[in-house]
Amino acid sequence: MTEPLPAGSTVGILGGGQLGRMLAVAAARLGYKTHIFEPGAAPAADVAHAWTQAGYGDLDALKTFAEACDVITFEFENIPADALDVLSATTPLYPDRRALEVSQDRLIEKSFLRDLGLQTASFAPLTSDIQADLKVTGVPAILKTRRFGYDGKGQARVMQADEADAAVASLEGASAIAEGFVDFSKEISVIAARGQDGSISAYDPGENVHEDGILSTTTLPAQIAPPLRTDAVLMASQILNALDYVGVLGVELFVTPAGLVVNEIAPRVHNSGHWTQAGCAVDQFEQHIRAVTGWPLGDGSRHANVVMENLIGEDVDRAAALAGEPGVQIHLYGKAETRPGRKMGHINRVTGAA
Ligand code: AMP
Repeated sequence: MTEPLPAGSTVGILGGGQLGRMLAVAAARLGYKTHIFEPGAAPAADVAHAWTQAGYGDLDALKTFAEACDVITFEFENIPADALDVLSATTPLYPDRRALEVSQDRLIEKSFLRDLGLQTASFAPLTSDIQADLKVTGVPAILKTRRFGYDGKGQARVMQADEADAAVASLEGASAIAEGFVDFSKEISVIAARGQDGSISAYDPGENVHEDGILSTTTLPAQIAPPLRTDAVLMASQILNALDYVGVLGVELFVTPAGLVVNEIAPRVHNSGHWTQAGCAVDQFEQHIRAVTGWPLGDGSRHANVVMENLIGEDVDRAAALAGEPGVQIHLYGKAETRPGRKMGHINRVTGAA
């Protein structure tokens, strides 16, 4: 077994949002300091030891940050390659570059998943001949930018072939892929971790409902046939091993009559894993910090049925009223300004024993 980093060591976190904040709290519980790197507002910095407020183009700031950290991890995947070069030359970075390179680009990601033998939507890189691309994917299709898409942004639907030109125009020249429409009955996700020793621990899959492209609720247990639950966990394990991954990974899946179809992977803790804070002895944030600092992975088995509800925009005004309801755990992200569509917090509602 590898020895865990000693107490008092510093975990660097790239990104200062709510995921970084919850990682920092988990790191503190394991005796670590955290150092946040974030150019903008940083709710994570409120609970961290240090904050470097600089951009990803500031290579000197990145180097100084890396020198101050014993290990570096991240809460978002769009970290520029030059920044990764500087960071990983100085300090171990988990998950490593390969996981980032695969998940930063939808074309590389889909090709990687298909090469593993996993089912994905049919896909094609967008060329200057959209009608030819749609022959590969079929119609309806969804055009998605290869990079920098999140919460349904950077996407355009093509319900009929004659809508294709307008959909392409809406992407404003960004490099993109076309994806065939998957006729799914449910969306689920599985959150899984791999330790430095190669051991794997997967959480039970949760059932996700999105509104306006943003995750609204995750419900455990997912109402799916038991074999699909096993399939989801095996798929996540296969991905983790193929990437020689260290840390927590989220895998979003569509449930279809032909089995599970992978939508995308996120090389980090994931919004649809927040339920683990109320449903498991070791939640996804502690599990991730354990993995990147060389601890054994913890017990991720589910002891409770949980519904996670995101508090988006003015939903957060209901937090005090929700706090009094049975089984409700409140998590607020400390963001100064409420804006429509902004994730302000979440609740985990324990609905019974597992
Ligand atoms: P994404 O940004 O790829 O996670 O997509 C956001 C949401 O759009 C997903 O959660 C699905 O509800 C929907 N979606 C994405 N890709 C497809 C697809 N190929 N077929 C049907 N629905 C999709």
